[in-house]
Amino acid sequence: MIKEAIYHRPKNNFAYAYDTKTLHIRLRTKKNDVEKVTLIHGDPYKWGEGAWQYEAAPMKKMAATEMFDYWFIAIEPDFRRLRYGFELKSGDESLVYTEKGFFREPVTDDIAPYFCFPYLNPEDVFSAPSWVRDTVWYQIFPERFGNGDLSNDPEGALPWGSEDPTPTNFFGGDFEGVIQHIDYLVQLGVTGIYFTPIFKATTNHKYDTVDYMEIDPQFGDKETFKRLVHVCHENGIKVMLDAVFNHSGFHFPQFQDVLKNGENSPYKDWFYVWDYPVQTEPMPNYDTFAFTPMMPKLNTAHPEAREYLLEVGRYWVREFDIDGWRLDVANEVGHDFWREFRKEVKAIKPDVYILGEIWHDSMPWLQGDQFDAVMNYPYSHAAIQFFAKEEITAQEFIYKTTEALIRYPENAMEAAFNLLGSHDTSRILTVCKDNKEKTKQLFTFLLSSPGTPCIYYGDEISMTGEQDPGCRKCMIWDKEQQDREMFDYIARIVRLRKESPAFGNRGTFQFVTANNETNHVMYTKTFEDQTLLFAFNNSDQEITAIIPLDLKGKKVTNVLTGEEFAYEAKSVAAVLAPHGFIILEF
Ligand code: CA
Repeated sequence: MIKEAIYHRPKNNFAYAYDTKTLHIRLRTKKNDVEKVTLIHGDPYKWGEGAWQYEAAPMKKMAATEMFDYWFIAIEPDFRRLRYGFELKSGDESLVYTEKGFFREPVTDDIAPYFCFPYLNPEDVFSAPSWVRDTVWYQIFPERFGNGDLSNDPEGALPWGSEDPTPTNFFGGDFEGVIQHIDYLVQLGVTGIYFTPIFKATTNHKYDTVDYMEIDPQFGDKETFKRLVHVCHENGIKVMLDAVFNHSGFHFPQFQDVLKNGENSPYKDWFYVWDYPVQTEPMPNYDTFAFTPMMPKLNTAHPEAREYLLEVGRYWVREFDIDGWRLDVANEVGHDFWREFRKEVKAIKPDVYILGEIWHDSMPWLQGDQFDAVMNYPYSHAAIQFFAKEEITAQEFIYKTTEALIRYPENAMEAAFNLLGSHDTSRILTVCKDNKEKTKQLFTFLLSSPGTPCIYYGDEISMTGEQDPGCRKCMIWDKEQQDREMFDYIARIVRLRKESPAFGNRGTFQFVTANNETNHVMYTKTFEDQTLLFAFNNSDQEITAIIPLDLKGKKVTNVLTGEEFAYEAKSVAAVLAPHGFIILEF
């Protein structure tokens, strides 16, 4: 066995509390190197006749990536604490892996070498709000979704959809525009809206906050917002707002005061000013987002700045009953601030969803004390590379997706925010080079994945657009101009996700096969006695793909056509159209 590849570390994605009773334990070994893994485990205080009383339980190979195998077991310790090690077997070779290295056989006269999960404290268990796992999100960029009130349009606003978006133009979208189209969202089946920023700001994207306590007048006022939240809740739709706590806008009055009064400003320590006088050109002499003088970084450790921002977090939950906070540039803000932020907003509304914008490995924020989820770009990235761009093989797609899946604990993955695109990326149909079959494959993958999926406004009617500002076009409301077939398909799989537990977040996701020759992949979702098989053809040829499962004698239903059939042969094949797919239930 290749010892160097064997890896485990407690209290992260390798060993974590899944709930208040259950520990999940994972082990990594070199691919195809180990035949059998047994968990040696027991209570640290259970001794008899001078020996530690342990039990042995077989672990299951849960996943494989290009280089590694991953083994898994769920354990319910009798007294919420556990010492454990791993017995590995390959051929005649046998090893016991512990925190203190390798042994030939289990050590029984001393528990010191074993890994330790000291105590499963219920308050430490990662727990995202229970509603999140069944939510289908819809992202709205409020300036571009609907203009329901012409009287609040910013000066110079252009007629709706009359031009392509630029970094600086306005079209007058507002809250009234969302309220007027609530039936459309209900028809699509979405149950949560994520709004990009709505607070007073100068740009069309509103990420340059001027006042965190005020609604931007182009969207309406606080009464309109209250009504919007109410209408959403009446229709079973949660509301998540976007806040930028990493930096303020240049016109934030507190920063303006520092610009004016320099060292004498009472707000000088709200920011990280290097020296005085404060300058913006040629380079800012204060910390910023990137090198943008327009976005001065906030000092979230300063007591007054901190209290101001915490009150922002509390205020919109307390006064407007919002259901979630999406936190911009969340990984550049101190962990200590986020821990307090979580406590403060959850004290008002315990099931508020806290979502951090982090594009990278986010384990340090997903320990249960900070975020409920991160924007899980790495998860869908592999799918986009495979289906949309055809940059990677079927096998590579499986490996990369598996790496993203095992990067987090299972309970964190169930709440992860999965997306194919946003206001920061090219639209998915454009990435697919206008191939709608590929777009359907990607939405089918997204909606059947573990996590909570988000649809970017307009993708459901086949809107197109390159990276910002192209992806921020005005929503098309003329039905003749909308792709209604795409809308109906997406509404249908949104419904399937809600109605079929295996399709949705209760199903266990498992890759079945990947074939680089015919360029197809298959995975199953299983819940109790229901199994769904998803088979995708990623080539532009019709293919016949063997289903490597024993379906003999089983009643099989094609989920999308309703066709039923029973297979008599042991080996079953599916004929898949170019970039086509099927979903079978059995
Ligand atoms: Ca308007």
